[in-house]
Amino acid sequence: MSKVSGVIRGGLLVTERGFRRSDVAITDGIVTEIGDCIADSGGETVDAEGLVVAPSFIDLHTHTRVPGGEESETLESVEQAAIFGGYRYLLAMPNTDPAMDSVGVLRSITDRLEKLRVTVEQSSAITIGRAGEQLVDIYSLAEAGVRFFTDDGTGLRSPSLMREALEMSALLGVVIAQHSQDPELSSGGSINEGTVSVRLGLGSIPESAESVMVARDIELLKAYGGNLHVLHVSARESVNLIRHARSEGLRITSEVAPHHLLLDDSRTGGFDPIFKVNPPLRSVATRMALVQACISGEFDAIATDHAPHSDHAKQKPFSEAAFGMLGLQTAFSAAWTAMFNHPGWDESELEAGLAWDQIDGLEPWQLVRLHRVISLLSFGPARIVGIDAGIRVGTNANLVLVDPRSEWVPSPGDIVSRSRNLPYLGMALRGRVVGQILDGSVVLREGKLCS
Ligand SMILES: [Zn+2]
Repeated sequence: MSKVSGVIRGGLLVTERGFRRSDVAITDGIVTEIGDCIADSGGETVDAEGLVVAPSFIDLHTHTRVPGGEESETLESVEQAAIFGGYRYLLAMPNTDPAMDSVGVLRSITDRLEKLRVTVEQSSAITIGRAGEQLVDIYSLAEAGVRFFTDDGTGLRSPSLMREALEMSALLGVVIAQHSQDPELSSGGSINEGTVSVRLGLGSIPESAESVMVARDIELLKAYGGNLHVLHVSARESVNLIRHARSEGLRITSEVAPHHLLLDDSRTGGFDPIFKVNPPLRSVATRMALVQACISGEFDAIATDHAPHSDHAKQKPFSEAAFGMLGLQTAFSAAWTAMFNHPGWDESELEAGLAWDQIDGLEPWQLVRLHRVISLLSFGPARIVGIDAGIRVGTNANLVLVDPRSEWVPSPGDIVSRSRNLPYLGMALRGRVVGQILDGSVVLREGKLCS
């Protein structure tokens, strides 16, 4: 693709320290100037008045379904979903068929990953076949370039295997990412344990199924060292445990999914399997506590858990339907809607030293929360994967244009994924990604893909 030259004018540029109204000049795909009233140099001019210019997003949790699940997603369709969502990087989960658990399986897709415009980094399973019984060859996989190991979809139950995996992670500098969920406490469950599960008579998954495993892993981390990332946190007690572990200096990070911020278990009351996800949508009180935890800086990242499923797997009676929902295209909008609607603004959200330029139609406190959402989609996960996300002179342009004030209602026609399991159909969402420059080339312009 040809590299872009031009000036993005009048947008609010996101930096780690706040928002600053700036023009951004790009020459042959490289950011060449950031400042006020940059002169035209013959390229394109993009009017970004009222828009936010942010670093392209980074997702720590994507199910690409490749290899083996191409009925529900392909690398090409997931790439398109990523571009619409404003993403430049996806960490691909290993629940594939065969499971991503060896250098051989990894090599079978490496060439295809390299052809994509979006960076897709493949994680490996922790145990062979994600069966929880025998560790993969972490050493060889790390030598082949794998940096993240997870049995996502299930928690690694065995404490001795988890200990060994953490010890290896300390030795090799890789990360063990845990789907924290005790298999006994969650056995047979398909929704959150609470008043809704009692009313519906469905098997349930309590918050404690998550937090007991978080607590155990923190104890192992404390005793044996290592690097732990907690996937899709959905329980209040997990947030407390992770905060405490971090304050003790342990190497622990965590993420939260947009659907856990915006949706609660009352949605499952109509037995619609589109709202079936693992970990499940929680109570209103927990949902609000998770939004508050985002605002207070408890999480390192918002990660999609983008989990495409064919109609065949999803349109079944609730207890038999597959867990998971689409998330890449809507992550920013869903998270921003949740943060925007969250009541109880308090001055303490305003961190000292941050600088804010205004945007018409948004109150200062809304800008503070918008900054938090964007940081959790860019700077936060970038630190975990080792990418320098900032928009800086001399670097390849990787940026998204976001309209934080627009409202839209996703419809089936908006979905570019091969699957249809989007939980936000018909819901009013706030804010939308409208443009993206990836590695210096325009890939999304005025909400439309560029080929
Ligand atoms: Zn998971």
